[in-house]
Amino acid sequence: MEKLPHALRAVVDQFSRLPGLGPKSALRIALILLQQPEDRTRNLGNAILRLRESLTLCSQCGSISETDPCVICSDARRSEDRLCLVADWDALLTIDEAGFYQGKYLVLGGLLSPLNGVQSGQLATNLLKKRLDSGLIREVILALGTTRDSEATESYISNLIREQYPEVRITRLAQGIPIGAQLKHMDRETLKQSLNYRQEL
Ligand SMILES: [Zn+2]
Repeated sequence: MEKLPHALRAVVDQFSRLPGLGPKSALRIALILLQQPEDRTRNLGNAILRLRESLTLCSQCGSISETDPCVICSDARRSEDRLCLVADWDALLTIDEAGFYQGKYLVLGGLLSPLNGVQSGQLATNLLKKRLDSGLIREVILALGTTRDSEATESYISNLIREQYPEVRITRLAQGIPIGAQLKHMDRETLKQSLNYRQEL
């Protein structure tokens, strides 16, 4: 990579810092970009810039949004008393696009993972407490998947709620979800069933 022209190396350096991309695939993408018509590469560059400029995190649910609060949090037709807790934004999209859940959400920002060094301080527990402090939430639905990390997170969160907000009902999606599954990969029908038959914790 030392012999690459400076401008090309700069792009390869940036791409290879992304998860899942090594220097070789980074170089391949950079070369593809170079072969594109100039306006297409320019549009891509501008779209990446706008991504940072126009998106923010919703201060109520932690999801990625163009407005704060986001469209879901500011939607008055959604019930305020149910809060669906998801690990990441993709999971929120999966549930919401399925179209059967009409409550609010909170994005935890990950799952506890001792192996990957993710600890409770890195999760959006302060945001969760803020929502529960409002006194509006009567049920928290844990939709965290069925991996080992999701189970560890589930028990951490349910203990926290039980200790500090004993009046709040805690449920989890029913176990129709295959073990080891990440929620964002579920199909609509399975998700709907697992919400309908959710279990008390
Ligand atoms: Zn929001």
